[in-house]
Amino acid sequence: MVDDLKLQALNVLRRFYGYKSFFPLQFEAIRCVMNGNDAIVLMPTGGGKSLCFQIPALLSEGCAIVVSPLLALMKDQVDALRGMGIPAASVNSSQTDAFNREVIEQMYAGRIKLLYVSPERLLVELAQWSERMKISLFAIDEAHCISQWGHDFRPEYAQLAMLRQQYPNVPIMALTATADRLTRDDIVKQLNMPKAELFLTSFDRPNIALNVVSNVSSNDKMKMIARFVNLHKDESGIIYSLRRADTEKMAARLRSSGYNAAAFHAGLPTCEKERVLTAFLNDDINVVCATVAFGMGINKSNVRWVIHSNMPKNIECYYQEIGRAGRDGMPATALMFYSFGDVVMHKSLAQESGKQAVVNMNKLRRMQQYAESDVCRRRTLLSYFNEYYDHDCGNCDVCLNPPKRFDATLLCQMALSAIVRTNGKEGVTAIIDILRGSGKTDILSKGYDKLRTYGVGRDFSFAAWNAYMLQLLQMGIIDVAYDDYNHLRVTDYGWEILKGIKHVMLSEFSYSSRVSIVKKESAKQEVLPGSIPVADKKLFEWLKETRLAIARAQKVPPYMVFSDKVLDVIASARPTSREEFAALYGIGEKKTEMYWRSFTAVVKAYLAEI
Ligand code: ADP
Ligand code: ZN
Repeated sequence: MVDDLKLQALNVLRRFYGYKSFFPLQFEAIRCVMNGNDAIVLMPTGGGKSLCFQIPALLSEGCAIVVSPLLALMKDQVDALRGMGIPAASVNSSQTDAFNREVIEQMYAGRIKLLYVSPERLLVELAQWSERMKISLFAIDEAHCISQWGHDFRPEYAQLAMLRQQYPNVPIMALTATADRLTRDDIVKQLNMPKAELFLTSFDRPNIALNVVSNVSSNDKMKMIARFVNLHKDESGIIYSLRRADTEKMAARLRSSGYNAAAFHAGLPTCEKERVLTAFLNDDINVVCATVAFGMGINKSNVRWVIHSNMPKNIECYYQEIGRAGRDGMPATALMFYSFGDVVMHKSLAQESGKQAVVNMNKLRRMQQYAESDVCRRRTLLSYFNEYYDHDCGNCDVCLNPPKRFDATLLCQMALSAIVRTNGKEGVTAIIDILRGSGKTDILSKGYDKLRTYGVGRDFSFAAWNAYMLQLLQMGIIDVAYDDYNHLRVTDYGWEILKGIKHVMLSEFSYSSRVSIVKKESAKQEVLPGSIPVADKKLFEWLKETRLAIARAQKVPPYMVFSDKVLDVIASARPTSREEFAALYGIGEKKTEMYWRSFTAVVKAYLAEI
């Protein structure tokens, strides 16, 4: 049944945003607060959370107050809304007092429908505001900041619990993209809204292709990354590394090959961090090589890929970081490198952190299981968030390239006996050197060339051995003594294999299957971005140039003029009139008015040329 409220909401959706229908649960959440009830909206990044409070704000009398933790996020949203003709504003410390006062006056006069504010300021000024005007709604964005369990706890958020009590007649909507159970439950508790309705959608991000590459040498890793960046030259992407020094090395290396890359980590001066962030948002820098310090508060919708040059410490972090890609819903790629060294390092870090150690180790284990999964990665990832997918996704490396298994009992026995014969006094590199008969001086000086296992494994490359050792570690056949120089040991299970009581199956290591990810990417390149056929790629590039020129003139990031998705739509629909332009996905009334001339002119020029 289409009721009045739905018609009104759809009307606003079309007029301001240029969309024709709601995403799952958006309208249900809108209806909930329009009926005066509290709502908790749990949707992944890109799920369309903002509309859930923006539309009620537009449909209600008075002004909605939106609590947001970061100045950058606030400004980004306010600019985006104003770009669509929606009367939004914020009061914040980067504006002069006079300007802030003017905003408040405008709000009292009923000329602002959404006011963005930090929790600190809200707590101080709310009582005053509420005397002078009607508050239609409280929206608490990034609501996980209220929970100590979350990844971004902010003490000021905790005080928001008073809203429910002090303003019993104003509905509250809390929103977050946090997927873990513990944090979600805590949000409900902390906000003190027992009657809140929950709107929970799937956390799948089907447009992000998931890829893992394990056990390549750091040299090959660098080559693969450079190759990947080359295939994605004109796109925005992020490369995460664990160490600050690596981010700088990576950026320098990419710059020397002519790419527009910069490093970002917490050790840089604030002005440099701001420079990099702004240049990235404005598409002046394509690649940011960063530690995890980079990302929070990046609303940029056209990040097309995220590379992890090391495995993250847990799945929550990984999910959050890859989630920065493809917010516009267009195809995006996540590529993670995973090595024996990553596991060893994370394990020793996890051990240092005392009583949290057990939790950390368990989370690390789940992360490794994902990295080593030989079933669909999306299924593995979602199962971590208690979501079960009943089919393979077809958009991950395992689906596209299932691993072959083979009987590796003999191979395994070779490795185990090398470990036994060195009395558990060597780490993985020395063991592999022995197996491959490397002839390195420190192997010879210890007399390891006299061992019966010396050189028995020379048929396999170092990388292959590394991959197999990792699998043996995962299967509990060998163990690493983290408190004893990371030396390898044989477990009880390992002894059973050594004695020939048990057999082992391993996934075949093949270099070609790893490189195929980059190859597959190059095939995709011909139809970039996403579904645009090659013929229209040129038009897409022209539209992008026009967007960039407009963005520069207006001093806003290009994605705020139009997302890649909307350019994609324009490139395939090729509108030549105002009406045709106005009818397209993602183009509301204000943007039609402002941009139809520029973009239809480009389309006409293109049509004249082909
Ligand atoms: P979130 O805050 O959950 O990450 P956003 O509110 O930023 O998501 O929405 C993600 C993208 O999807 C934005 O570009 C937004 O304009 C778009 N979007 C939201 N709702 C719809 C809809 N009903 N139809 C089409 N696009 C939508
Ligand atoms: Zn899959």
